[in-house]
Amino acid sequence: MKEREIEELLLSGGASLVGFSDIGESPIKNQPDLRYAVTIVYKLSNAVLKTIESRPTIAYFQHYRAVNARLDSLALDVVRYIENQGYDAFPIAASQSTNDDKSAYRGIFAHKTGACLSGVGYIGKNALLYTKEFGSKVRLATVLTNMPLERQRDIIVGGCGSCEICKKACPAGAISGLNFTVGMQREDFFDAEKCSSHMKTYKDVGRGAVCGICIKVCPKNNLN
Ligand code: SF4
Ligand code: SF4
Repeated sequence: MKEREIEELLLSGGASLVGFSDIGESPIKNQPDLRYAVTIVYKLSNAVLKTIESRPTIAYFQHYRAVNARLDSLALDVVRYIENQGYDAFPIAASQSTNDDKSAYRGIFAHKTGACLSGVGYIGKNALLYTKEFGSKVRLATVLTNMPLERQRDIIVGGCGSCEICKKACPAGAISGLNFTVGMQREDFFDAEKCSSHMKTYKDVGRGAVCGICIKVCPKNNLN
């Protein structure tokens, strides 16, 4: 079974979780058949995340970059596997800040869309993916393909309930406090522009590309 082979390939390469989904519509121009997604999840280090207090740290930035690089490498392994099976495969980078339309704060494809449809997690109030296994201490990459793939996990229905810890801790005021529900756009509950602008104030930490405070404070992550 191709899903099992891809999962074994990724887990043996260090991935923490793997998901498969039919995203319904390809985000890639002129390639409408790329409607299946492989979601690759890589867990971040607890010890590194614990270094974040009221601001991010160099250790977090370096780890963030290393995990992104590993995810991109794992995605290439999947591309090679799928192409060897005679199908097309399109890797979506772990870190995306724009797309060909130059839409700000939006990549080519939202990893979290595939992740939720695959059953590996749900969206929290801070717009991060939450997994049962690792909370939001994860980074993601995706491979889109025209090789038919079936979801292997049950969809997770989760939420933050009445918790507002990250809303109160966010120095940017980016978290509205609304629970994400299916059909919501990100801007309905989270202000990506405020989040990104705030990250840029940490110019001394990795050119202002990370923050991580809302990961550190979330009680579901057991980092305090
Ligand atoms: S990463 Fe930082 S600025 Fe962005 S939502 Fe989380 S706490 Fe707020
Ligand atoms: S801190 Fe609370 S509201 Fe924020 S993501 Fe975690 S559980 Fe949800």
